[in-house]
Amino acid sequence: MTRFETLAVHAGREDLTRLGLHAPPIDLSTTYPVTDLDAGTASFDALVGGAASAANPIYARLHNPTVARVENALASLEGTEACVAYGSGMAALTAVLLDARSRGGHVLVVRPLYGTSDHLLASGLCGLETEFVDAGDIAARRRADTALVIIETPANPTLDLVDIRAVVEAAGDVPVLVDSTFATPVLQQPASLGATYVMHSATKFLGGHGDVIAGVICCAEQHAQPLRTVRAATGALLHPLGAYLLHRGLPTLALRVERAQANAVALADRLAAHPAVARVFFPGLGTVRNAHLVGTQMRGPGALMAFDLHGGYDAAAAVMSRVRLMTPAVSLGSVDTLIQHPAGLTHRVVDPQARLASGIGPGLLRLSVGIEQVDDLWNDLAQALEGARLSAVA
Ligand SMILES: *Cc1c(COP(=O)(O)O)cnc(C)c1O
Repeated sequence: MTRFETLAVHAGREDLTRLGLHAPPIDLSTTYPVTDLDAGTASFDALVGGAASAANPIYARLHNPTVARVENALASLEGTEACVAYGSGMAALTAVLLDARSRGGHVLVVRPLYGTSDHLLASGLCGLETEFVDAGDIAARRRADTALVIIETPANPTLDLVDIRAVVEAAGDVPVLVDSTFATPVLQQPASLGATYVMHSATKFLGGHGDVIAGVICCAEQHAQPLRTVRAATGALLHPLGAYLLHRGLPTLALRVERAQANAVALADRLAAHPAVARVFFPGLGTVRNAHLVGTQMRGPGALMAFDLHGGYDAAAAVMSRVRLMTPAVSLGSVDTLIQHPAGLTHRVVDPQARLASGIGPGLLRLSVGIEQVDDLWNDLAQALEGARLSAVA
């Protein structure tokens, strides 16, 4: 069996040598000639019905070969039969929700979640009744019309872990979606634990360079078909240039995640010992819910952490304004280190009470550790923390 690091380099490129190419070709066609109408009609029916490919792509909203390449690559990295790519992580989640609505009107969701996922679900915009539950209550709250269970692990931004196997068991025959954005397939493969849908905001680690917005759902072919039908109908497409960039990031995925994770382990220790820091949330420190899953469900603690400052909002704002090397910005999983304030930015759209109950307070900062040299990162963070402390005293 080909191992992960090798797959990451070669997946979706298997036919290139035969084609006489080294880099994947980018197909920008919006339409494709139909010279044989019978064959064209058959292709059209197949693609609208959710087939992964057809003899003729017909129209780029139905199929694009450059997008299909990166889908194949990601399916092999997640160990699923199929992958369906969208123009963003939110478009990917929306497609699963629209499909779920055809099976029932109720979804069970474990908080915390990425802020906009929480907002999309709480708003009822997709016509589903959302019930937020503790992971331990899923079996008791399941109803005849429950169409989907949604979890995010590690969760954004508190890094709580959720036991995927336990949730799958509690969900019974209800499909389970795992947002695995923070983990990447380098650290966990939820489908191997029974998850029906593995979701990624591919904007983050999978793309890895902060230059493409994309979302994917990895799942069995049977579940991918209705998702392609939704994509063809709603047009929530990943552009082929974005697909190319996403594919370009994959060969270095394992290298990037491993290096960023090693940096994160070192930074978490130093932050935990810093007098300005009240608490560090990092799976590797055992300070998050279900941290025991590091080493089993997750191969490592990952490259994301959050930390609470004694000085509250003012100290957090001061650190954001004082970092010089780190980028003070939302998003995560880029080669460079990003630091942001969840209560003020990414989780602004979450109900304020739910936000506080999830541990997202005014002094909380989230750090997405990059692949820079770790002492350079620490020096930058330490000077920002020290500057914030002195300005609080002054
Ligand atoms: C960013 C993110 C999303 C949303 O993805 P977009 O690509 O921004 O639409 C969903 N879930 C998690 C965990 C994220 O970090």
